[in-house]
Amino acid sequence: MDIVGTILDIPVQDPPDEDFSSADLTWTKFGTPEHHDDVALIPYSRVDAFIIGECSNVECPTRFHIERGRKRLKGSLKEYKNDEYLEYKMYWCSFGPENYGEGGGILPSRRYRLNTRNRAARPQSMRGCTCHFVVKRLYARPSLALLIYNDRRHVNKAGFVCHGPLDRDAIGPGAKNIPYICSEIQQQTMSMIYLGIPEENVLEKHIEGIQRYCGSDAKVNSLASQYVHKLGMIIRRSTHELDLDDQASIRMWVERNKKSIFFYQDNSETDAFILGIQTEWQLQQMIRFGHRSLIAADSTFGIKRLKYPLCTLLVFDARQHALPVAWVITRSFSKPDVSKWMKALLDRARSVEPGWKVSGFLIDDAAAEIDPIRDIFSCPVLFSLWRIRRTWLRNVVKKCPNTEVQREVFKRLGQIIYSIWDGSETLAALEELVLDFADQTVFMEYFKAFWVPKIEMWLSTMKALPLASQEASSAIEAYHAKLKTKLFDDSHLNALWRVDWLVHKLTTELHSSYWLDRYADESDSFKNVREEYINSTSWHRALQIPDSAITFDEKDHLYAKVQSQKDSSVTHLVWNPGSEFAFCDCPWSMQANLCKHVIKVNMICENRQGCQSSMSMQSFREILLNIWRMPLDDSLALDQSMAWTYQMLDQIQKLVELNSTNDIGTVVKRLPIQWLSKKTRTSVCVPSTTLGLPSSSRDSTRIAVALKKNRKRKRLSRLR
Ligand SMILES: [Zn+2]
Ligand SMILES: [Zn+2]
Repeated sequence: MDIVGTILDIPVQDPPDEDFSSADLTWTKFGTPEHHDDVALIPYSRVDAFIIGECSNVECPTRFHIERGRKRLKGSLKEYKNDEYLEYKMYWCSFGPENYGEGGGILPSRRYRLNTRNRAARPQSMRGCTCHFVVKRLYARPSLALLIYNDRRHVNKAGFVCHGPLDRDAIGPGAKNIPYICSEIQQQTMSMIYLGIPEENVLEKHIEGIQRYCGSDAKVNSLASQYVHKLGMIIRRSTHELDLDDQASIRMWVERNKKSIFFYQDNSETDAFILGIQTEWQLQQMIRFGHRSLIAADSTFGIKRLKYPLCTLLVFDARQHALPVAWVITRSFSKPDVSKWMKALLDRARSVEPGWKVSGFLIDDAAAEIDPIRDIFSCPVLFSLWRIRRTWLRNVVKKCPNTEVQREVFKRLGQIIYSIWDGSETLAALEELVLDFADQTVFMEYFKAFWVPKIEMWLSTMKALPLASQEASSAIEAYHAKLKTKLFDDSHLNALWRVDWLVHKLTTELHSSYWLDRYADESDSFKNVREEYINSTSWHRALQIPDSAITFDEKDHLYAKVQSQKDSSVTHLVWNPGSEFAFCDCPWSMQANLCKHVIKVNMICENRQGCQSSMSMQSFREILLNIWRMPLDDSLALDQSMAWTYQMLDQIQKLVELNSTNDIGTVVKRLPIQWLSKKTRTSVCVPSTTLGLPSSSRDSTRIAVALKKNRKRKRLSRLR
């Protein structure tokens, strides 16, 4: 076949079917006689159709994951070749590239592999498949994608078919005849076993899954039953203790699970122990749901009961539920240590998705270091009230015996926080609380010892940062509650002090449970799991309460009543309606949770006259007003916010333009914008006496600043 030297001679192919595969394309040899690739040119919009087609290969059904990715900015190259990329993604068959099968380089005992490896989106059995291709979105023609596909066969390095029906030992000893177990069925089976679902139900689902590929067959069924049984035994017998010594055990785990670790620093004289865990499935979820969205931290979990506290990073999934996408186990909250793991996490995401960016980071601890977040994620930091609310409520319920007192104390605690925005004196509110409830000695002693010394720090953090909504709080709290029930059930009380146990618990049970939740929701199977998952936050449960079930105390606005949907003779009393510090007498609320009754009542209060607006609303309004109140001219902060706004607007416009154009050249030609006027602007922003600067450099600084400001103004006038 001829070798084509320029990409311009390669025709664009657009197969008519909904999905298509490599077999439907004509491949051209492109390059030089010494080095050339098999390539095909397709519309960029059809890349997904190609990948779907390639996955449903009859002989080797599989999935492809992104093994490597790169991106460059539009307009960043002055000179470029015709085949230069704007986006570069290497897709690899998920049965590779590593080989954990027979003869593979890494051969951990099967027991540990099944026990600890949880590569949800990828098969447990990586078998060294070499099949992979590259998709290049062309720099010069972004509407086209160049496919480079040299290794089209699903074979291992030795050249043998390594998965699918033609693979002779698809899933290990004794199971040669089961044609194919796709990654999802295997993960599903493991997840169900981890979650303690009875074996016959696991088997039923397992066989259902296999039959989608190979029809019904008695032999296959009996082998599948053996397989599920064996897997169950292996999982049941598996232990977190890889070594009697916890530290040695963790080192072994780290050695065996390199792909699920994004940062590891062993304990030493100079360094603190830090273990950052993120499975590949979690990485994918973080990229998917975290991009241009929020990340939240549930920090310092188990600070008293665990050897090292656990910090979980959460994203909000398609239903706005909190999904754990990384776990960090450490006692060190120092700036350098936090920076280290945050940077590693971001680098990991960017190595797969170069443009990946977070738009906000929610913290729940006023003592948390904010600088690393701003430096590394370069995004605004928000504050979530859920942790302080929960801690206060728990102690009020525990330490004040009388319900009426509990309601009132909790309400007054809320008023201390509301004082940030309503203009009342925080200190006065605090003093009054201490005086009025002096007889509640147990609570007051606790409050004075733990909270009075640091209340100012907490309040000033809340004042400085925008507050997250109740919906976000309820999602984070739901994760926290689930974590607590999974970790602190009585059977493991003596294991709490071992890190290997914590790691094991997180990567098996908890990971499986979230994997199954998402899978059930997306594949519309496992109806019970799905329903339970949807209702797992108080916010969603609150949405099911009809407005008619709520009645208000119209006279004094002191409480609201919520009629139970299950039993109409039961009503719950929500004290202090409309506030985040509303107090409900239901059992869930008495365990310090944000219950559905409080959320529902507050939802209604948002639209009622005479009710105060939520704290997040007040905080947001305050921040906006502060910006608005800034003097119009010569204000650095105002200039900065203007610059941000216009930068954002600029980006949106460029996106719209690029999306609607077929010729990137015309867009590029218009960039960067030419600035004509260089008239300087008088401004006190540039200090007239810049101490320590020689006059010449002072002048050039002034000019540079003036030019920048001028550009902004210019852009502003262009946009109007
Ligand atoms: Zn393959
Ligand atoms: Zn309640």
